[in-house]
Amino acid sequence: MVKTHKIALKATCEQAKLLSQHCGYARVAYNHGLASFKAGLEADEWKSLYTLKREFNAVKKAEYDWRAELSQYASKNAIHHLDRAIKNWKNKKLSAGFSKYHKRQYGQSYQADNGKGTVKVSENAVRLPKIGWVKMRESLRFEGEIVQATITKSYGRWYVCLTVETGEDLPEKREGETIGIDMGIKTLATYSDGTTVENPKGSMDHQYRKLGRVDKAIARSKKVHGKTNNSKRRQKQYEQRQRIYGRIANIRDDVHHKATSALVKARSVGKVIVESLNVAGMRRNKHLSRAFHRAGLSGFLRMLEYKCGWHGVVFEKADRWFASTKTCSGCGEKKVAMDLSQREYVCMACGLVIDRDLNAAKNLAQYDQQDAASSAESKNGRGGAISPAGTEAEPMKRLLESLPQQLSHAFA
Ligand SMILES: [Zn+2]
Repeated sequence: MVKTHKIALKATCEQAKLLSQHCGYARVAYNHGLASFKAGLEADEWKSLYTLKREFNAVKKAEYDWRAELSQYASKNAIHHLDRAIKNWKNKKLSAGFSKYHKRQYGQSYQADNGKGTVKVSENAVRLPKIGWVKMRESLRFEGEIVQATITKSYGRWYVCLTVETGEDLPEKREGETIGIDMGIKTLATYSDGTTVENPKGSMDHQYRKLGRVDKAIARSKKVHGKTNNSKRRQKQYEQRQRIYGRIANIRDDVHHKATSALVKARSVGKVIVESLNVAGMRRNKHLSRAFHRAGLSGFLRMLEYKCGWHGVVFEKADRWFASTKTCSGCGEKKVAMDLSQREYVCMACGLVIDRDLNAAKNLAQYDQQDAASSAESKNGRGGAISPAGTEAEPMKRLLESLPQQLSHAFA
């Protein structure tokens, strides 16, 4: 079984500088490869991974002489990543668009290894090529062989993400009840057994207020006497903002970790069914995008998915057409519309009165992929063209069509 653990690093100033340089090197290699691939496309030539690598190696000595002291794995892996991105785009996987150039301000990262054995870990440090032993803030949680090590800088701090092959077999499928989960912005998650997971409120609001103040200060000091302000003071404000963002992410991750662990560990759950979030749609909606971003729903689901895998729980996503909000969980009667302000589902057919989110969660728990496919087929006249759950490669039109229903979830 493969597990990953992201650990904060205690890099010295010198090490931090080297880490930064490696990220820069990876970025340069990626961008060089992308430019050359694009030029190839224009000349009707499809450049392979091998060609891209060879081309970069041919120019790197002359163009990037500063890279001599750096680990060559950084550039090599960057070109591998580019190749994967190009293939995803070609195969239209995960709605992958064409690769964009990597920019410094959009996060720094590089892959530090060249397969098994390159990176070593001790009790409280990790040995990276060309950098040496860098202290870690906690020990690696899993025993086994390190298959991949990725270095990232986020919120002003360095992290190593270690992927470990633990040698354990995947756990056997666990027998147990099925839980449907309705995701929302006000209440993060509602389970079909009535449990709710609330978004962190107080501490989070406090951080957002602080963030607002720093943002304002940064905006105000943009220019001094008509000149761009590059002062140390302003630099410090940027760092302060990074730290607040980091704290916000920590608060949110903590809640998500606790809730997902509690669900897969302590309960007798055999299967979890969630709805497919319309991520693109929610981001586009100006009223929703901020709240959606803050709640971090996708992060919660990603976490839940891998933890289910670790514990032998089946994780399933309902088709995005599944009307979990509009259907009565008692008798299956479907409403034409369900107003956003309606907090309760009142069924005209059987008289059931139930909380809106709980109703949706119960519907998800009863969701059957086979049923959904056949009913969608007959009702939409789309034939067998219903995409499997979780596929994001949807044409724009279908995304837009599905927006109203997903909106109601988000507000719910
Ligand atoms: Zn009913």
